[in-house]
Amino acid sequence: MADLPWFKGKRKFERIEKDADRYKILDRVFDQSTLLTVYDLIKKGVIEKFQGIVSAGKEADIFSALSPEGSYLAVKIYRIATTDFKRKFEYISTDPRFHKVRRSRKAVVYAWVSREFKNLVRAQEAGVSAPQPISFANNVLVMEFIGEGGIPYPRMVDSAPPEPDTAFRQIIENVKKLYRVGRLVHADLSEYNILVTPDPVLIDFSMATDISNPVARDLLVRDLSKILNYFRKFEVDLPSLEDLFREVTQD
Ligand code: ATP
Ligand code: MN
Repeated sequence: MADLPWFKGKRKFERIEKDADRYKILDRVFDQSTLLTVYDLIKKGVIEKFQGIVSAGKEADIFSALSPEGSYLAVKIYRIATTDFKRKFEYISTDPRFHKVRRSRKAVVYAWVSREFKNLVRAQEAGVSAPQPISFANNVLVMEFIGEGGIPYPRMVDSAPPEPDTAFRQIIENVKKLYRVGRLVHADLSEYNILVTPDPVLIDFSMATDISNPVARDLLVRDLSKILNYFRKFEVDLPSLEDLFREVTQD
């Protein structure tokens, strides 16, 4: 699946439809409405062509793609059919920005994607090391590709940072900026959602929530304890969880 030529050329849409059933994964991802959404992003000049699949998750797949300018993009496509939309609905309705979302499967997934995009915008504005948000439509999110030549940088769980003490401080600085400037808690932070470039880059802002959320502080404690736990296997001087929490929130 290195190259998907049907994303290029004039008869893009017919080709997408015809070829989609040859690729099981695409069949699963690209239902009729997703095809239309992807086609729209191509027409708008956001995406030029797809390159390959980077990750097939439980609820979303990540593709590498190219922009018309030739830069790599990460395209995160949420699957409407297999998404746990009840859990998403419960979660999203605690977010003051989205408490009016409809209870339908599609509406919840679309709100989820727009929320993830807005979270990335806030992270970016706060100067956090995270993928730059580029565009979104329905269940499709387009962002900067964190990698080289369409190959993503490794996750911290797969590849330990070369200088663990530096990496630890960089991650905490990012969490701090996200909290103080971006007014967000990542809420799914762990070695699985940090890429090593070798500087740590935070990804997957789908769970990130406003600090006004009553559970935001508990989520921050969980994020920080996961980071502390990860770095325990290295010879790094680590602060206590209490001190770290205070440092981030400056209570
Ligand atoms: P969910 O948000 O439903 O939990 P997920 O955990 O599968 O889905 P992500 O963590 O966002 O989704 O992405 C999965 C994998 O795809 C990452 O571990 C990473 O390897 C790759 N990836 C995600 N975003 C990017 C990006 N911007 N650039 C390069 N690779 C990425
Ligand atoms: Mn993830």
